[in-house]
Order: sequence, then structure tokens, then C-alpha cells
Amino acid sequence: MRDLVARVMDSRLSDLLCQWRRDGMVAADPAGRFAAHADHLLVIEAEGGANRYAHYGKAFAACFGTDLTGQVIDLLPPDILPADRRFMLEFEYGFVRRTGRPLWRSYTALFGHDLPQTWQRLVLPAGDGRLVVGAYPVRETASGDGAEALLRLVIDRVPVILAEDGGVEDMALSLGAFCDTSRHAAELEELASRDSLTGIANRRHFEHLAGLELDHARRMGRSFALMALDIDHFKRINDTWGHAAGDEALKAFTNACRGALREYDILGRVGGEEFAVALPNTGPDGARVIAERLRAAVAELVVRPAKGQFFDLTVSVGIAQLRDTDTAVATLLERADQALYRAKNTGRNRVVSEG
Ligand code: GH3
Ligand code: MG
Ligand code: MG
Repeated sequence: MRDLVARVMDSRLSDLLCQWRRDGMVAADPAGRFAAHADHLLVIEAEGGANRYAHYGKAFAACFGTDLTGQVIDLLPPDILPADRRFMLEFEYGFVRRTGRPLWRSYTALFGHDLPQTWQRLVLPAGDGRLVVGAYPVRETASGDGAEALLRLVIDRVPVILAEDGGVEDMALSLGAFCDTSRHAAELEELASRDSLTGIANRRHFEHLAGLELDHARRMGRSFALMALDIDHFKRINDTWGHAAGDEALKAFTNACRGALREYDILGRVGGEEFAVALPNTGPDGARVIAERLRAAVAELVVRPAKGQFFDLTVSVGIAQLRDTDTAVATLLERADQALYRAKNTGRNRVVSEG
């Protein structure tokens, strides 16, 4: 197992881990202590109940287009830190502080408009509530074997807790092994709550992620909008082209939606051919622009289920805006559904805002 870890863990992170093991807790000047990694290092301090970047490596500033030194993580807007990443970071940092053990994970993200990139991160406890995080983009290695691929898959999904001697405590296949409360096991399960056909969040997971953004918007006094989408005459598509073609249409529809949305918007499949989108930091005008863009992208879509076959589809959209009295995603979704109902009744292939 240790050999496998050594092969899969980026060698630069193994260096960092070795140095941390040798020197133990490093309460004083962790950035200086790990100077060789400074560009790829974050130092995080506990400030009240929040986390503040005391050092923000240049490599991160280049990826995110901004230097976050001194920033409190909870105050970052969703275009810099979307809900699922915020949630994962809070989990990781809380875990490392509680257990005093290193935690390792890889993740794939879009930075700016580039292609998705996979990075590996290592979170180390550094004394006095401080954390040191090292992260490097994954270097392509020669073709790995099955076990290597499996380990990569696992660490992409859940953080891996490292044992004192450098091996992986449990391969993270058993969540219970590194989750000291059932609440964390449930949270991690939730992270894997993807719809199997389209790969986007299922209803439960969507409501969870959208709920995090809604809470954040309320706390920060920011705007927040929610769209309800329903594909028009979908029964006809199934009846004319068959159920498998209907499934292809759902996949193509999801891709078109993704292309029309921003990276931090949250797209979920909330029913068979019913979808929802949470739009953080978005007022009524912005929400309309995005909804129109999405509607137009879907209208332009051509689905090709088999050679020589093709058809198009349209979608109706309802929009609701966060009000002071809203505390749950379900309330907003209900209002967006009412607006959607009006879009259906006034001819379909259109966007209707509530009110
Ligand atoms: P409209 O919304 O415009 O009023 O008409 P509609 O035909 O889309 O109406 P409705 O919501 O009643 O029909 C939805 C259909 O979607 C019915 C169901 O068979 C189909 N459907 C639901 N889930 C799936 C799925 O996963 N795959 C396929 N192929 N079809 C599905
Ligand atoms: Mg429907
Ligand atoms: Mg429909």
C-alpha cells in the first residue's frame, strides 16, 4: 500500500510531508519553514470561527486571478469559492484540526476559461490552529495499472487520511475509518450524490448545495436567484424517437445548460426532465440574461440519437428571486415552479420571472 501511495502522490507533496514529519508542528512562520514550496503553499489561520489566508502562494493567485492573502475564506464570493468547494474546505480544515493528522486529496476544477485541471492537495496541521496546505497540478505519468487508477479515483472523491508512518490509513474506501462522527459520513455520502444519467447533482444534493449558497447570500446580504426548467413536450420525444433517444436528449440538454452557465452556478436534476439552477450573487436582471442564454442554447441544440436521426428540443424557464423571508430552497423552488407554469401556459420555449 505504501508503494502505491508513493507512486500516486505527487513527489513534491511527498517532500512536503517528509519535511513536516521531520520538523513536527511548526507554529512559528510556517511559510518560511517550507520556503521551497512557498509558491504552492497556503497558510491558514483560525480567526474566531473562520479561516484566514495568512499566506497565499503565487501559483494559486495565478490560477484564480487574484491574491487572497489576508482574506477570510467565508467572506469570499461564490465566483471565487463555489458552495461545493467551500463545503469541502471547511470539512478538510475542521478534520485536520480535530485529528492532528495529514489529509490528502486530489480534485479537478476549472480555472478561468481553461480546460479542467487536476490538482493534488495536502493539508497539514501546523500548531496553534494553523494549517499548511500544499497543492500541485498533477503531472501526467506513464500509464498506471488498475490499482493506481482505483486509488486516483478514490482520492478524487474523498480525502485520504495518512497514517503516521506514511501509508494510507484506510484507502478511504471505508468512510467510517476516518469519519469520527456519523454526521461527517453523511456529508461525504452527500458529496457523491450525482445523477447517474447526466452526472449533475440529484435533487437532494442540489437542495443541499443551493441551501449552502442561500445561507451564504442571506448572511452576506447578497442577491440570489433560482431557476426551474422543464423540457417542452418531452413525452413526444420519447414517443417519437424512443426512450433511449430521450436519454440522449437529457444528456445533450445538460451539456447545453452547463455551457450557458457560469462555473459557480449550481445545476441539478430535480425530476425526470425537470432541472433547477441556483444562481449565487445574481439579481433579477442578471438571472434573466442567464436564463435567456440557456433557453437559446437549448433551442439551438440538435440531438442525434442514431445515424441519420436528429431532432431538436426547447425548454421553459421560471425564475424566482431570494426574499428576506426565504429560508429554504424549497420555498424558492415553489415560486420558480409557479413562474415556469406560466411559461408553459403562454406558449413554452420562454422565460418567465415571478411577480
Ligand atoms: P410539457 O412539460 O411541455 O408540458 O410536456 P411534457 O411532455 O414534457 O410533460 P411531462 O412533464 O408530463 O412529461 C415528462 C416525460 O418525461 C414523461 C416521462 O416519461 C419522461 N421522462 C422522465 N424521466 C425520463 C428519463 O430519465 N428518460 C426518458 N427518456 N424519459 C423520461
Ligand atoms: Mg415535467
Ligand atoms: Mg416537460
